Amino acid sequence: MSFTLHGAGAGGGIAIGQAHLISSARLEVAHYSIAPEHLELEVMRFSTAVDQVRAELQGLRRSVPADAPAELGAFLNLHLMMLDDATLSHVPRALIRSLRCNAEWALVQQMDYLVAQFEKIDDPYLRERKADVMQVVERLLKAMQEQPSRAGSAPPREERLIVVAHDLSPADMILFKQHQYAGFVTDLGGVTSHTAILARSLGIPAIVGVHTARQMVREGEVVIVDGVHGVLIVAPDQLVLEEYQRRQRELESTRQKLKRIRTTPATTRDGTAVDLHANIELPQDIEQVRESGATGVGLFRSEFLFLNRDDLPSEDEQFEAYRHVAQAMHGMPVTIRTLDLGADKTVNGAARGGPNPAMGLRAIRLCLAEPQMFLTQLRAILRASNYGKIRLLIPMLAHAHEIEQALTMIAQSKQVLDEQNLPYDRGIEIGGMIEVPAAALSLGVFVRKLDFLSIGTNDLIQYTLAIDRTDDSVSHLYNPLHPAVLHLIAHTIRTGARMKVPVAVCGEMAGDVTLTRLLLGFGLRQFSMHPANLLTIKQQVLKSDLGDLTRVANSILRADDPEKARQLLDQINA
Ligand code: PEP
Ligand code: MG
Repeated sequence: MSFTLHGAGAGGGIAIGQAHLISSARLEVAHYSIAPEHLELEVMRFSTAVDQVRAELQGLRRSVPADAPAELGAFLNLHLMMLDDATLSHVPRALIRSLRCNAEWALVQQMDYLVAQFEKIDDPYLRERKADVMQVVERLLKAMQEQPSRAGSAPPREERLIVVAHDLSPADMILFKQHQYAGFVTDLGGVTSHTAILARSLGIPAIVGVHTARQMVREGEVVIVDGVHGVLIVAPDQLVLEEYQRRQRELESTRQKLKRIRTTPATTRDGTAVDLHANIELPQDIEQVRESGATGVGLFRSEFLFLNRDDLPSEDEQFEAYRHVAQAMHGMPVTIRTLDLGADKTVNGAARGGPNPAMGLRAIRLCLAEPQMFLTQLRAILRASNYGKIRLLIPMLAHAHEIEQALTMIAQSKQVLDEQNLPYDRGIEIGGMIEVPAAALSLGVFVRKLDFLSIGTNDLIQYTLAIDRTDDSVSHLYNPLHPAVLHLIAHTIRTGARMKVPVAVCGEMAGDVTLTRLLLGFGLRQFSMHPANLLTIKQQVLKSDLGDLTRVANSILRADDPEKARQLLDQINA
């Protein structure tokens, strides 16, 4: 039976495919059926993996030094106990037989069940043990990878699969960059969560905050993802399917037509030049940046180099990544943001830290608390600045002393490079992100000490309106047109212009075509967005005349109600 679920559209376009239910990318597994005569072989494959992991864990336990903290041994014992518990070692065998499926799939089904049971526990310590279950499962999956199944039929091709998950972390999403799924649907998450931003950066339709998708949708069911309107249609009938196929073709043809303006300079009708830069997460994104015709990288979220790994990237490894981007942009500006770890982006899947991670030790706060990690990154960025036009951008600044400390550490890093005779761009520009209201309200020190500013509207909205951007239960309150948000943005752009300090917007507002004219009216001349949005924004810039926009932008600023602001905006966009 066909039914429809609603969430928030997180990525443009329409995808049609088969639902593929998963828990987390790290534990992402293929699903395929096993012929009855091969089922016992598959069960054996699972048993071999259990034996292998048991031997691995026992070996690790033996190698724990005598003076190691007691928790280490206890932790390995716990994993051994979990491994041998019937819920993890026997139930999957029964599932392989009853579902006639591959061992990985049976194991992950059982893990999902166990994780759901843990989530119901009130005691926070016990609840968190679900992470241990996942780690043991991860070891088993790895062991099975080493002895691939020969008994199954081929899994369906990724391009036809729509991933349906309860929740995905930014670290999960970054792993999906290696896949080619047709779309994403998650139960949790707000539209400006990093997970949603990454879904957009994959350039595929996505919906977040659907609440019940994981529960209602079955593996293999045909689904339509309308990432524009946030609508998920499950088991559509023929007429609906044809209508969405038609819309899909239309969107594709618009996308193709937009490519014609790829090399056209972004200039308004009355001749004002506008910089359209791109946001990236990983060096390999640079290909897409070049295809988009961006004239620079306005935001390189460098912390993504630090996710999904057990160690921190070395100075040399970071240097290579930054140099690659700098060289690939051939002298166009590349703005590398220093680490914005913390909040929803944690190293190696660690639990989100502190009672309120978005307000906790995040971004520059974490970097100042971990000077070795920060100095390593600064040296890597400075060394790479010898190979292109790199700019350094510091996230989440709020206090003058944070600016001072960051600048001192940059100076220190330069000195180390001088002592080693390593070249770097001595004139490298240092900028700060304006994403905490306190920063937008104390711009004096920012414009005096820094070379440029970049408004991170995602966090600026989060912190101004006190809404956790990852929490979909409050995402209806997340409104870029709230007068307080607009005032902070307009004030920052105008102060920058007065003080001759360039200001960019690099949050999601920069890639929202309904807001382009408003931002132009505030005086913004530098936008940085995901490359997939760039040509749409360029088209809007080309069609815009600045003549009347300042006046209308002022009247929108005077509107004390976001609804009124939206109406005025509709008029300038008409
Ligand atoms: C922002 O906050 O708007 C921003 C660009 O940074 P991020 O989305 O990575 O927090
Ligand atoms: Mg931010």
